[in-house]
This record gives sequence, C-alpha cells and structure tokens, in this order.
Amino acid sequence: MKIIMLGAPGAGKGTQAKKIADKYSIPHISTGDIFRANIKEGTELGKKAKTYMDQGLLVPDELVVDLVVDRVQQDDCSNGYVLDGFPRTIPQAESLDAALEKLGDKIDYAINVEVPDENIVRRMSGRRACLACGATYHLVHIPPKKEGICDNCGKELVLRDDDKPETVTKRLNVYHEQTQPLIDYYTTKNVLAEVDGTKDMEEVFQDIVKVLGV
Ligand code: ADP
Ligand code: AMP
Repeated sequence: MKIIMLGAPGAGKGTQAKKIADKYSIPHISTGDIFRANIKEGTELGKKAKTYMDQGLLVPDELVVDLVVDRVQQDDCSNGYVLDGFPRTIPQAESLDAALEKLGDKIDYAINVEVPDENIVRRMSGRRACLACGATYHLVHIPPKKEGICDNCGKELVLRDDDKPETVTKRLNVYHEQTQPLIDYYTTKNVLAEVDGTKDMEEVFQDIVKVLGV
C-alpha cells in the first residue's frame, strides 16, 4: 500500500500518517522530519534546508527528490509506505511517478486532509514537537501526559521555529501556490481521496481506514 498524505501545513498529515504506519506496519516517511534530523545533526543538507525552512519556503526540489526516491527503494518499503510532506510541488510528483514507473510501481492513494486556513494558524500555534523522535502533540487537542515532555522518549517538546504565526501565514501561501495543485494532479490519476480533517483525530483516522478499505 503506497500512500501520499496531502493537505496544508498543520492539517494533521503527520498525526494520521503515524497512525496509518502503525496499523498497516509500513514506514512513515516525513521529509520534514528528515530535514529536521539533518539540521540537528548539522549536516550539509540540514544547513541548506534550514535557510528555506526558517523563511517558510519550500526546500528546492533537487534537494528532496533523490532523497525520497532512494528511501522508497529500501527493503522496509517493499510492502508500501506512507509519504508525509512529499510531494509538495508538481515537479516532485512527476519525478516520483517517473521513478516508480521505472520500477513497475505506482502510488495507490493520495489522501487529502482538508482543513480550512482559519483553523490552521490555531493548530500550529498549539503544536508541540519532539525533535528527538518526531512525535507531535497539541497543547489543547492532543496534550502530552506530562507538560513539555514527550510521552514516547521523555525528551523536551518545542514550538517549531516555522510554527510561529508570521511564518505559518507564509507557509499557507506557499501551500496554496505550489502544493494545492497536486489535488487536481492526483484526481486526474484517479487516486485522490478527501477526508474532513476538522473532525476529531480518531474520526479522521476511521474515515481514512474506510478509504483504504482494509
Ligand atoms: P501536519 O503534519 O499536516 O503539518 P500535524 O499532524 O503535525 O500536521 O498536526 C498539526 C497540529 O494539529 C498538531 O499539534 C496536532 O497534534 C494537531 N492535530 C492533528 N490532528 C488534529 C485533529 N483532528 N484535531 C485537532 N488537532 C489536531
Ligand atoms: P513539514 O514538517 O512537512 O511541515 O515540513 C517543514 C518544512 O520542511 C517545510 O515548510 C519545507 O520548508 C520543508 N519541506 C518538507 N518537505 C518538503 C518537500 N517535499 N519539498 C520542499 N520542502 C519541503
């Protein structure tokens, strides 16, 4: 099962991708998490990516496409995967499709988690992230058991630099300009499914499970 999560920043892609990955025992591949791990480790890729991420801009396609195309060919992806945050532009989607076609493969589902812009800024200002293990919480909707501490690994939770309101507005504009066109792209490919991301996290997940039909 090869799945792409679509939706605005903060729509709940990561939250749902983790649940899908757990239920169907497939890897969750988040390009945002990969970049954040590289920033933390101080790699060249991390340094380059950070200059774009801090401004709310997309990292250039050439820094992300090969990375994902390599990742989906690793052994743990043989039964499928859930891509979160990739593709984010039409050229990224075309490159992924071309690479998969060469392998005799294709994407099965592109799930669009639909949340209106007015809900997004509220969600992002309440998001708290664990940069150690990638877990995500929300101060009000999905609080950690112990304030400021990750349930998973016990490390400190932070407000991501790019979740500050001024950067969120920029990221939403970038989403509408560069990423939203993917909805039409995957509709044309007959793999698009829409879910209402404003519902409670568990209800959204049940709607996704219905789409996946297993
Ligand atoms: P994305 O990966 O699309 O950027 P996240 O999964 O990180 O978004 O979710 C953004 C924020 O909204 C997080 O703080 C998360 O805990 C919270 N969240 C996710 N899904 C829901 C939901 N259905 N209702 C309320 N808050 C949610
Ligand atoms: P995310 O964690 O998915 O919200 O991603 C955080 C930031 O990482 C984005 O705002 C972009 O700057 C960068 N990023 C993540 N995935 C991609 C991608 N597929 N293409 C370009 N930039 C990306």
